[in-house]
Amino acid sequence: MNPFAAERITPLNRFPINPDADFVLYWMIAFRRAKWNFSLQRAVDWACELGKPLLIFEALSCDYPWASERLHSFILEGMKNNGSDFESAPVSYFPFVEKTRGQGKGLIRELAARSCVVITDDYPCFFLPQMIRAIGKTVPVAMEAIDSNGLLPLPVADRVFSTAYSFRRYLQHQLPVFLSRFPKENPLRGVTLPKLQEFPAEIAKKWPRADTIINNLPDSLRRLPVDHKVAPVETRGGAQSAGKKLSDFLDANLHRYHVDCNHPDKNATSRLSPYLHFGHLSVHEVFSKLCKVERWSIEDLSDRASGKREGWWGMSPGAEAFLDQLVTWRELGFNMCSKRDDYDRFESLPDWAVATLGDHQSDARPHLYSPQQFESAKTHDPLWNAAQRQLLRQGYIHNYLRMLWGKKILEWTGSPREALNIMIDLNNKYALDGRGPNSYTGIFWVVGRYDRPFGPKREIFGSLRYMSSESTLKKLKTAEYMRCFHQD
Ligand SMILES: Cc1cc2nc3c(=O)[nH]c(=O)nc-3n(C[C@H](O)[C@H](O)[C@H](O)COP(=O)(O)OP(=O)(O)OC[C@H]3O[C@@H](n4cnc5c(N)ncnc54)[C@H](O)[C@@H]3O)c2cc1C
Repeated sequence: MNPFAAERITPLNRFPINPDADFVLYWMIAFRRAKWNFSLQRAVDWACELGKPLLIFEALSCDYPWASERLHSFILEGMKNNGSDFESAPVSYFPFVEKTRGQGKGLIRELAARSCVVITDDYPCFFLPQMIRAIGKTVPVAMEAIDSNGLLPLPVADRVFSTAYSFRRYLQHQLPVFLSRFPKENPLRGVTLPKLQEFPAEIAKKWPRADTIINNLPDSLRRLPVDHKVAPVETRGGAQSAGKKLSDFLDANLHRYHVDCNHPDKNATSRLSPYLHFGHLSVHEVFSKLCKVERWSIEDLSDRASGKREGWWGMSPGAEAFLDQLVTWRELGFNMCSKRDDYDRFESLPDWAVATLGDHQSDARPHLYSPQQFESAKTHDPLWNAAQRQLLRQGYIHNYLRMLWGKKILEWTGSPREALNIMIDLNNKYALDGRGPNSYTGIFWVVGRYDRPFGPKREIFGSLRYMSSESTLKKLKTAEYMRCFHQD
């Protein structure tokens, strides 16, 4: 078997492999793509070793939290893309979409009962960790969860990092080994596997393939029991769109990322977060393609692991700044979610933040808004409203404004816990990239996670970092942004 990295494999039970069963099953739940995917690679390896067909099962339920036309349509576009990517490959692809709540119940167990081994994705957030742990206990064969989340395998770090600086320093020590253990770009290239002769008829009858739904977007969405008020956005899902976004970014924006990324009018960031979130794009692919553009090789790494933001990679300033977001900040949140079940709770905040928020709990708020007023962008602040309108319309808020958006929700609600609930709900309901580790990194950063105390103390914020719309408007280029999102 391929020695890609034993630390990326987590057994979910102690059952044996069943070499006499019908196929190897890959249950794709987070890394929804055909390339640069350790889970798929592991499943292919098993199928080759056992000489069995490989069945790839990608499912979409309709009762996950915040299920909506917006999220469904993005995922379904990805499934369509996967269908065509797997068409000419020596595998069988089985897309399933629930038409009614609970329709998919029992399906994974039926498939597992016919499997030699079940491979799935090890994603540390949302309902997925609990779901796979529970399924692992009930299937009758070996089941493995594979980590394809980041450049650093999640189990490698033995602690939770409380600052980006300490995590960056740790990465600078640990990453070099893993930079040469990437997934194969195309794990199916050159592979010969027996084809599944016949898909089990009783399964196909009870749980029919989702081709009609997938091929009739967006009309088919209307008949699914999801939130129809959160409409699809212009951004299209799927690995193909992700690849186009990535090459556009590398061609046009990478070189100016460090200068322009904070200015909403400059559109300098990658807009890759929805694709990374739904697994339509792998961070390994992004890194590999960026290295090509930079003509970078591992010898260019600095041997000084100082934790500094610039200089360690030995790349251009734009690439170094981008990698600090893509690797340091992104994987910092994955580290937290993989190690602490309370990553989405107020109690997980650092002591100093809990204390200072407690000291200012009863401070008078200059404005108080209800969740509905926030949701409908009806505050007194035009910049905040513009950011919220971007979220409603595009499923996204510009990075810098997302921080301001959160800080103002904290300032204009009755308590930090209420502010957290509102941020989590709005972010996860409307943002394509919501419901993941980065969501909780960003939202909890607003209330002190990964940050430090600042002086002098202020009303409501205490020693938390403060941000204001006035200074943001002065500091950043926002005229075009304000024009674009100034009204509903
Ligand atoms: C209140 C709040 C909520 C947020 N919610 C989310 C969310 O739900 N999902 C999400 O992906 N990001 C979230 N972020 C982080 C950040 O705003 C987005 O990742 C970024 O704006 C995505 O745009 P981009 O792809 O153009 O980023 P780029 O600037 O091009 O960065 C490249 C990638 O790096 C990662 N990244 C960038 N900034 C951060 C960051 N601060 N923390 C962690 N990873 C980062 C993302 O995966 C991003 O796609 C949130 C930040 C705040 C302050």
